[in-house]
Amino acid sequence: MKTAEIAIVGGGPAGMCAALVAAKQGAKVTLFDSSKILGGQLIKQTHRFFGSEKEHAGTRGIQICAMLEEEIRKNENIELHLDATVLAAYEDKIIAYEEGDKYEKMACKKVIVATGASEKMLAFGNNDLPGVYGAGAVQTLMNVHGVVPGQKVLMIGSGNIGLIVSYQLMQAGLKVEAIIEAAPTIGGFKVHASKVRRMGVPILTSHTILEACGTECVEGAIISQLDEKWSPIPGTEKRIDVDVICLSVGLSPLTELFWQVGCEMKHISPLGGHVPVRDENLETTVSGFYVAGDASGVEEASAAMIEGKIAGLSAAASLGYDQNYAMLRKEYLEDIGILRSGPVGEKIRQGLQILAG
Ligand SMILES: Cc1cc2nc3c(=O)[nH]c(=O)nc-3n(C[C@H](O)[C@H](O)[C@H](O)COP(=O)(O)OP(=O)(O)OC[C@H]3O[C@@H](n4cnc5c(N)ncnc54)[C@H](O)[C@@H]3O)c2cc1C
Repeated sequence: MKTAEIAIVGGGPAGMCAALVAAKQGAKVTLFDSSKILGGQLIKQTHRFFGSEKEHAGTRGIQICAMLEEEIRKNENIELHLDATVLAAYEDKIIAYEEGDKYEKMACKKVIVATGASEKMLAFGNNDLPGVYGAGAVQTLMNVHGVVPGQKVLMIGSGNIGLIVSYQLMQAGLKVEAIIEAAPTIGGFKVHASKVRRMGVPILTSHTILEACGTECVEGAIISQLDEKWSPIPGTEKRIDVDVICLSVGLSPLTELFWQVGCEMKHISPLGGHVPVRDENLETTVSGFYVAGDASGVEEASAAMIEGKIAGLSAAASLGYDQNYAMLRKEYLEDIGILRSGPVGEKIRQGLQILAG
């Protein structure tokens, strides 16, 4: 059986930062990602990041990814396994993974799970027609593979992801016919909403999709206005001709490995679903298993990076690599506190309070 001091599952911003911090402290790290390309969500984010300056706000996601990847590849303490999916984890810190055509087992001293999140689906008629996409899939198609999903788009959801992907669709030459939002107010930042509105895209709040039209693929969508109880108002149905329906209705943390090892889990709506209970060092209730990033609750890349640093630092310190531990821990905890302060962090603060309570 192979061995590792610290195994990290997931090479997004959380996993990459966990690996770098733990390796710089002196620990031997093995970093796994099921994709052939390192970086998680960052590889498709061509827009400049918002968030904290320390976590590269103002820089494009793809550039942040390139900088972190370069550091990782140069670090001799990090062994990188791409196209390698961790399929199982056990309480005694053995993990099983698939790499190429081989199944391997690895005995680890510590495991950090930074598997990210998956996109939520929405129930409506014909939602399995070709042409109904998740916003993340549309971003991957366009920004990684250079393929546009169609010509005319209906975006469902006005959070930051829905607004940013709408803008990127227009940059790629598609027409966004409308963005609809079930809530009475726009979910994302005003700056993103104003940008798409200036380009002529209507944002219809208190609206939902009832049905996708078409037989072989999407040809249109029936939308409707919602009342204050979020029920469709009869008589307000309207057809919009589109060939793409893009869903941006939230993400759920990917937590299968925590369930497998028997971590205590709680369903916390503001964090996006079930998440593992953990302490301030991000260690779960199963000793030696840590969580970081969207897997701990859906947030954003800046938070994922800081959480990765906290988990990497904690795991390394528990193995005796504890140089400047107190100082670095204080710094990272302060950074995450600042990031989550103010109105933008309200939902996360609320979620963390419920988790702690
Ligand atoms: C359209 C869009 C725009 C965004 N814009 C911003 C922004 O401007 N600013 C910002 O701060 N945030 C932004 N975000 C949010 C940000 O991208 C995420 O919060 C962040 O990527 C989460 O990082 P992560 O490392 O936790 O997860 P991810 O980036 O999702 O990475 C998880 C990685 O784990 C791998 N993985 C999963 N399971 C396994 C397994 N079993 N074995 C091996 N590997 C596995 C996946 O392949 C993936 O590479 C945006 C998100 C989207 C979708």
